[in-house]
Amino acid sequence: DPMVVLKNLTKTYRNGSQALVNVNLRVNRGDFLFVTGPSGAGKSTLLKLLYGQEQPTSGEVIVNQQSLRQLKGNRLAMLRRRIGVVFQDYKLIPRRTVAENVAFVLWAQGFTRKEIQRRLQPTLKMVGLQDKTHRFPDELSGGEQQRVSIARAVVGTPPLLLADEPTGNLDLDNSRQVIKILKKLNSIGITVVVTTHDEQLVRLSNHPVVQLRHGYLHYLRS
Ligand code: ADP
Ligand code: ADP
Repeated sequence: DPMVVLKNLTKTYRNGSQALVNVNLRVNRGDFLFVTGPSGAGKSTLLKLLYGQEQPTSGEVIVNQQSLRQLKGNRLAMLRRRIGVVFQDYKLIPRRTVAENVAFVLWAQGFTRKEIQRRLQPTLKMVGLQDKTHRFPDELSGGEQQRVSIARAVVGTPPLLLADEPTGNLDLDNSRQVIKILKKLNSIGITVVVTTHDEQLVRLSNHPVVQLRHGYLHYLRS
């Protein structure tokens, strides 16, 4: 069964901006999908609808077999826990160390201290930050900060990872490294959806690609 289904999805913001127009999309479990398109094409909106940050104007969003339309309050919060999200600007807590930033989400979800200890080091190792555990975000390079935010997104082992322009502030080397980590996560079973306006990055890989243009979705490579 699919991880994500979008049916006739339209999003018009209150100011009249048409961000998405009749979008249909299916993402199967285990897929790695690139969503490309120029700035303003609707990429962020698509991801926001997937984790319930915005509501559709019409159409349906189904994630992990649950329609988001019927999900409110607690049940929406539960679904969100099963979705890891990575942003272009990292959104780390500045006065917390790498370890604290990553542990915080587990703590907030009621994981025991022992379970947090068990998960923290392997996750930081996976993103290559095992030696920077006690650093603060402003002591890290952009690429390292983004890797902390990836660790935070997956430390709770979500089945779905959404990354919104994760390489938008990074140079090509760091961008490649981030994509490599996302692919590694995909190879251990996490379904990954990544938005990027960077065509070069997409060309370097052979994963499926869809493109948004003025809110319309086109399949480029499947
Ligand atoms: P992308 O991520 O591809 O840059 P967005 O999804 O951010 O595109 O934006 C798609 C369109 O919707 C743009 O025209 C943008 O200006 C508009 N938009 C995005 N967010 C909002 C908002 N909160 N209110 C009004 N318009 C918005
Ligand atoms: P990149 O090659 O990713 O651009 P930088 O040149 O920004 O990396 O940083 C190189 C190294 O210096 C990184 O390992 C980072 O941890 C460290 N570093 C960067 N900025 C700071 C800082 N403000 N304080 C301490 N260490 C830093």
